[in-house]
Amino acid sequence: MTTEKIQHWIRPEIRELTPYHVPDSAGLIKLDAMENPYPWPEDLHGEWLGMLADVTVNRYPDPQARVVQQKLRAVMHIPPAVDVMLGNGSDELIQIIALALSAPGRVLLAPEPTFAMYRMIALFTGMTFVGVPLRDDFSLDAPAMLQAIKQHQPAVVFLAYPNNPTGNLFDRAQIDAIIQASPGLVVIDEAYHAFAGDSYMPQLGSADNLVVMRTLSKMGLAGLRLGLLAGPPDWLREFEKVRLPYNINVLTQASVAFALEHVDVFDTQTAAICAGREQVMSELQLIDGVRPYPSRANFILFRVPSGRAVPIFEGLKRAGVLIKNLHRAASPLAECLRVTIGTPEENTRFVASLRQQM
Ligand code: PMP
Repeated sequence: MTTEKIQHWIRPEIRELTPYHVPDSAGLIKLDAMENPYPWPEDLHGEWLGMLADVTVNRYPDPQARVVQQKLRAVMHIPPAVDVMLGNGSDELIQIIALALSAPGRVLLAPEPTFAMYRMIALFTGMTFVGVPLRDDFSLDAPAMLQAIKQHQPAVVFLAYPNNPTGNLFDRAQIDAIIQASPGLVVIDEAYHAFAGDSYMPQLGSADNLVVMRTLSKMGLAGLRLGLLAGPPDWLREFEKVRLPYNINVLTQASVAFALEHVDVFDTQTAAICAGREQVMSELQLIDGVRPYPSRANFILFRVPSGRAVPIFEGLKRAGVLIKNLHRAASPLAECLRVTIGTPEENTRFVASLRQQM
């Protein structure tokens, strides 16, 4: 009976999905999810806990999270003429954008491989997802992108800059052409901004269809769940209508406001992660059979010989190191694995364990 109702009412495309799987990382060195491996210094941690004592939870949070917004504007150099909207992680912002733009037949377009949630959220919100294959080196196929934009007239194009899971920055001239050719919105997703050394934030306002999305997750606040969207006020006013009123809880608001007072701590940590990335990259380049791809993020994608990705992934896990297995047979990510940069000790453990697997 229940099954019949589910068969009848749950949309077939939802029934066909498998839930987002987060592997159990208990006891493992966790290098699978692009987290910052460094906790806060002890004195800062204590100060934070003291500050939380003044937070009250009987009232709803500030619906605009104004204090956080103000601090983000300063820290992220958000141009004064653009508006800001906050999300429960940038995942929620992607969902809000798609909800606002969705209508039967409307297209959400992105190059692929890219962040999997673009496709998923298009599906959840009833949009049609169009993925345009990247070239073999994971650069944009600009003519194919422009052709797909012309053909599908996407309501929105998502470009992760740098891209996940490939790690590279796309070519700016090609991105500019995509922004110009797009009839709808273009979202530059700068989730990995802290490690990239480049941004579209200063370009905001130069095109009426450009917005920039960021998250605090990768720089070191993944547990707080805070993403931000910056862009022309006319667009953001519409998205605001779709945002649930109290999407940023009091603990997140207070903690982020506190953390942004100490942004130097995160700058030091992200600089250490970038140094770790260069170290891991040079070591991977020396391992026979491992082909790492250039990265401007806090992770490195690498390819291993045919038939080896799964056994290497499993072998690393047995050795106590959890990375991400992206291998799908006959896909552009066949035999590909992705490692998040950890502490120097974690990186050393990873490289040594990988060497043993080869
Ligand atoms: N965009 C990209 C490109 C990502 O890789 C991720 C996380 N993996 C996100 C957005 C979502 O991040 P969050 O929801 O933690 O802000």
